[in-house]
Amino acid sequence: MKTRHPRSIRRSGGSAKPPAIAPRATRNLETPGQPAATVAIENARLHADLAEQRREAELLSTITRNLSSSLDPGAILRTIVEYAKECCGSDMAFIAPYDRARQVATIVASVGTRTDVYMGVDIHPGKGIGGKVLATRQPFVTNDYLHDPRLSRDYHALAQQEGFVGNMAVPLLRQEDILGVLWVVNRTPRPFMARHQAFLTKLADQAAIAIHHARLYREAADQAQRMRTVAELGRVLVSTLDESRVMELVVTQAHETLGKLDIGIWLQEVGGGRMRLVAGRGQFSGPLVQRAEPMEPDEGVVGRALAEGQPVWTSDVLQDSRIRLRPASRRWIEEIGGRAILAVPLIGEHVVGALVAYRPNGAQFTDDEVEYLSVFASQVAAALENARLYAESQRARAELQSKNAELDTFVYSVSHDLKAPLVTIQGMAGLLLEEYRAQVPEGAARYLGRIQANAQQMEQLILDLLALSRIGREGRAATAVNVGEVLDDVVAELAGRIRERAIQVVRGELPTVWGIRTQVDQVLSNLVGNAVKYLGDTPEGRVEVGAIDRGTFVECYVRDNGIGIDPAYHERIFEVFQRLKDVNVEGTGVGLAIVKRIIQTHGGRIWVESAKGQGATFRFTWPMPTAGDPSRECSSGN
Ligand code: ADP
Repeated sequence: MKTRHPRSIRRSGGSAKPPAIAPRATRNLETPGQPAATVAIENARLHADLAEQRREAELLSTITRNLSSSLDPGAILRTIVEYAKECCGSDMAFIAPYDRARQVATIVASVGTRTDVYMGVDIHPGKGIGGKVLATRQPFVTNDYLHDPRLSRDYHALAQQEGFVGNMAVPLLRQEDILGVLWVVNRTPRPFMARHQAFLTKLADQAAIAIHHARLYREAADQAQRMRTVAELGRVLVSTLDESRVMELVVTQAHETLGKLDIGIWLQEVGGGRMRLVAGRGQFSGPLVQRAEPMEPDEGVVGRALAEGQPVWTSDVLQDSRIRLRPASRRWIEEIGGRAILAVPLIGEHVVGALVAYRPNGAQFTDDEVEYLSVFASQVAAALENARLYAESQRARAELQSKNAELDTFVYSVSHDLKAPLVTIQGMAGLLLEEYRAQVPEGAARYLGRIQANAQQMEQLILDLLALSRIGREGRAATAVNVGEVLDDVVAELAGRIRERAIQVVRGELPTVWGIRTQVDQVLSNLVGNAVKYLGDTPEGRVEVGAIDRGTFVECYVRDNGIGIDPAYHERIFEVFQRLKDVNVEGTGVGLAIVKRIIQTHGGRIWVESAKGQGATFRFTWPMPTAGDPSRECSSGN
């Protein structure tokens, strides 16, 4: 008998056709004959067996070589079915990798006449020959498909229709894991032998390795892709302050990244209480979200996940004894066809809920999916927390603004009303001193002088309060204001005192800002005025004014080498009427409150850096107008 040499097989991409082998009918062991002939036949048989064994070994080694160098599992599986068909002398061969998540094996490679129609067909565990192998993890061999009592009538009918006679199927196993099934089919009576089964099993082992490698490769690629998505989502979420947009983004991303899984977000109603399905993707978008029954906090997979503080999943929520469901919730779940559910809790200070994935009943979730959804969930919790805090601060800000506006109106009208009697008091005291000077005794004249001085102080107070109350109601539009020019005016106003104390005024670069000129003037005249006022007895008084460009805003400073401020009072001095008692300098205690209010109205902030006896540096920030935003109005802030 002629020995055959296997043709070389391409290492990757596409499959190589194995050479045809001699039909089994040429090796009929039952042929009687002469002893010499018997020996010759026996020799020939041994020879043929050896040749076949060598060939099988060569094929297996080729596949193993291919396996280690090919990244295309499809090509390897195609080669495997071709070898299976040829070496078992069969008419057809199929391979179906098992999908753990979907719990079915799907035919991905086949060879033989009219096998194309089976491509993509799902094999369910327990059903048919492939299904039996998946369920039992044991090979299944039949040489008489039509009459095998282990197969149901349906399969007998199918065999008759398709002309199937024999079938040999083996599991693809890796350790305890079932990775698929490989089988060959005969359309003519040709019994399978033990060696065929052994060869098919060896091929199945190779296929299992290929599938395992492909799975690892796919998982690594998926993981990398998911991590990229998570990082990207994280970046977007950090800047998203709208709660419903956060939820839309998350469900969409989770749905896309997790192979179109149905995704939902359940949140507890504000103030505790029931959980509601607030967003969904896949089957859970649209009407199903609206119809979802609200759940008690301890109900369903969500309730369980919240109670345990970690992800909880079930392959059948309706049958799982750990999961409590009220009849209404049960009805909704029945309506959606029962579900395998995975819930990952969202727990924050203001947010309680869960990110939930749904699959058809009976399905599983992989560790990867659990981990991935958990990463997503932590991002959701943080983003929702942010969005809620932002919404709360917006509400508080609006409330504060309206309260401030009320207070401003009140202060304005009271100050206004106080002015008239004050003018009368001042006038009367003046008249007494001027017209009745001779009749007024010396002591009474001193008292009248005190009345005048106090009335004047009170008038200043009223003027300051009126100025403070006006800031919030400023109706004028902002314009470009040259801070250097404003400083010139302020220094000119204070020229008398500056000269008197020989104060050195140092000015750095000063910007042009966007604001209301009189307000910028108020800020500088108060700060520079204070710097001059609170110099104490320093012989070499020095006041420095400058600014630092910080990109989106400018930081201005007014520095002096005066009496300084104890850090305990660094906040208090910005409140109305707060003055430090240890200095005897005139003032109303309203100036810094006015300054702070103006700066905040423009979106900036002010603070002081100082220590007692060490001078003081007041710093404030003032946002710079962005391009295309020249008509920005000053907001009426707090
Ligand atoms: P006023 O100067 O009318 O008292 P302000 O509101 O301007 O009111 O200032 C509040 C208090 O802060 C002052 O009474 C003073 O005690 C302190 N203060 C303000 N500026 C300075 C400064 N440059 N150096 C030391 N203390 C200051």
